[in-house]
Amino acid sequence: MVQDIPVKVFIRARPLKDKEKENGCAESVQILEDMSQLIMSDKLFTFDGIFVPDAPQDEVYEVAAGSFVEHLFNGFNCTILAYGQTGSGKTYTMGTDATPNSLLDENRGITPRIIFDILLKITRLNMDVTVSVSMLEVYGENVWDLLARDERPEPLQIRENPRGGVNIPNLSKHQVKDFRAAMDFLVLGCRQRSKADTAMNAQSSRSHAVFTITLNKIGDVNDSEPFESKLHLVDLAGSERLKKTLAVGDRKKEGIQINQGLLALGNVISALTGPGLVKFVPYRDSKITRLLQDGLGGNSYTAFIACISPAESDAEETLCTLRYAERAR
Ligand code: ADP
Ligand code: MG
Repeated sequence: MVQDIPVKVFIRARPLKDKEKENGCAESVQILEDMSQLIMSDKLFTFDGIFVPDAPQDEVYEVAAGSFVEHLFNGFNCTILAYGQTGSGKTYTMGTDATPNSLLDENRGITPRIIFDILLKITRLNMDVTVSVSMLEVYGENVWDLLARDERPEPLQIRENPRGGVNIPNLSKHQVKDFRAAMDFLVLGCRQRSKADTAMNAQSSRSHAVFTITLNKIGDVNDSEPFESKLHLVDLAGSERLKKTLAVGDRKKEGIQINQGLLALGNVISALTGPGLVKFVPYRDSKITRLLQDGLGGNSYTAFIACISPAESDAEETLCTLRYAERAR
């Protein structure tokens, strides 16, 4: 049975950075945590949940994604996305930098946490379920395999499946049996991810990164049904507009394409969450939305986490992010 599962929208505010504090930077948002509301520029925003700057990683995981493990084992696809300007905490939230520090227990973002819980459940219940991982990035309008063994990989093609969903024929898939093996792939993929320097952030990621975990259960005579389910963990490209990053030339073209992807994603989510039973959802408008279509809306669970900087100096971008997130709800 196809049901409509609502997209949940969360806001996560990062702490002020030391430098911002030193400069006496004021905060631009007022958070009413218990009400899941936030006030900015005299406007009241309401979301499914708001994480305050000192909200720990485990709380963000539990609240935004904790129930997804169960959904995956029930055969549902799930997607978790982090959106926001560069430096707002997307990568920290998703756990897609995979440095030794970010892999320490309490610092771990959503990706290592959910892999851990999936594998733990399989081991504890001695389940006959295989887990495989893949990781790709959308850079400009090209899609690259971040776990390819190839020295000179070709850009990947996306194929729509006649039965629904998508196929990426040459994307490498790696079966993982334990947490260590899964982390090795995460570390490898994060290392491969394209980075380009901008005036705003030397480590700024101008690409969308998608880490996908696939669960596969082959039916057996004794018990449960076979299923395949997918979880997409998405660290989106920075949402900031171009002028702030002083982008010129190629970088500018890149920025425009990235923003087209984010625009298309906003349109897809807003079509999914809008009123009416019969919906036209414009998945085909960008690579990132085509890629994610089997995990966005309809019969799948989606958590959208908009990351914001509370600093007054970022107020303009923060307001844009809040508006985007509000439209997604
Ligand atoms: P983005 O991926 O959106 O560009 P990052 O995740 O790289 O941003 O975050 C920028 C910096 O802020 C990083 O040094 C990161 O460790 C830090 N940071 C972000 N969010 C938090 C948080 N909630 N708590 C502590 N540090 C954070
Ligand atoms: Mg990042």
